[in-house]
Amino acid sequence: MRKADRIYVAGHRGMVGSAVCRVLERGGYGNVVTRTHAELDLLDPAAVRAFYAAERPDVAVIAAARVGGIGANSAANARFLYENELIALNTVWGAAEAGVRRLLFLGSTCIYPRLAPQPIPESALLTSALEKTNEGYALAKISGLKLCEFLRRERGLCYHSLMPTNLYGPGDSYDLVGGHVLPTMIRKFEEARQRGDASVPLWGTGTPLREFLHVDDLAEACLFVLNLADPPDLLNVGSGEEVSIRDLAEKVRAATGCLATIDWDATKPDGTPRKLCDTSRIRALGWAPRISLDEGLRRTVACYRAECAARTVRLGR
Ligand code: GDP
Repeated sequence: MRKADRIYVAGHRGMVGSAVCRVLERGGYGNVVTRTHAELDLLDPAAVRAFYAAERPDVAVIAAARVGGIGANSAANARFLYENELIALNTVWGAAEAGVRRLLFLGSTCIYPRLAPQPIPESALLTSALEKTNEGYALAKISGLKLCEFLRRERGLCYHSLMPTNLYGPGDSYDLVGGHVLPTMIRKFEEARQRGDASVPLWGTGTPLREFLHVDDLAEACLFVLNLADPPDLLNVGSGEEVSIRDLAEKVRAATGCLATIDWDATKPDGTPRKLCDTSRIRALGWAPRISLDEGLRRTVACYRAECAARTVRLGR
């Protein structure tokens, strides 16, 4: 990627897109093109085509998606499939039609089968059934990455994909019902501390294992793969650190200074039992994460408090 390239970042107001914009700016890429949701509806193929025709980016990073935690996904698989499928097809196909030279498509490791071998290698894709709680999102992201792969093979376009593990960091959504587990826990423990509650309700059994990556590490990984001359079609990106939901809760409780006990609600879903991705491929190419979970949690709690004080925090979807 050249410093003068026109780089379109789709989803620049989201947690991932904004981190990608920060890393591009720091790296001296001064020609970043963005559109807000109000300016460009990515569900509308004609609007996306017209945007690409007018702006003619050299590179595109597709970080736009409807995202959510287990609550949001399991309640609305239809919407997660429909919107993410359209966003993927419109942004990737539209880029190819407009001659965008290079494209990075982002998804998540929930594209892999529910009972994939752990840690999950890229080769586990489409080897068995998906996790039901986020099947809609996963199917849409699989379509997007396959479209990139087909365009690369059939038209020689350097379109490739990066699948991050569970992410967290500045600009996350702290929605109590539809959010992801880590930001939701931060908000629950912070509010319990402020109110002096005796207990905090959490979901499931606490036994599932998850891996978390700070979004600034992901953004560095995006820049890293965009500068590879011949990147693999699909690469996982994660921290390699696995933690049980129960241990995560203890870490978040400590990071917030909350003294409440935890009430596990086993009527709520656990989701996939384990989701650790195999990052040996991207590490062998030369990328490594820099922010540990403990450090990332400290920064994110501070960031949440600052966003609350500035009234910029996203408390809903
Ligand atoms: P997933 O990683 O795709 O399953 O999605 P999440 O980020 O929502 O993580 C879900 C895991 O955290 C499940 O095992 C939940 O049972 C557990 N969990 C515990 N408390 C909460 C909570 O308050 N919100 C959410 N979203 N998940 C929780």
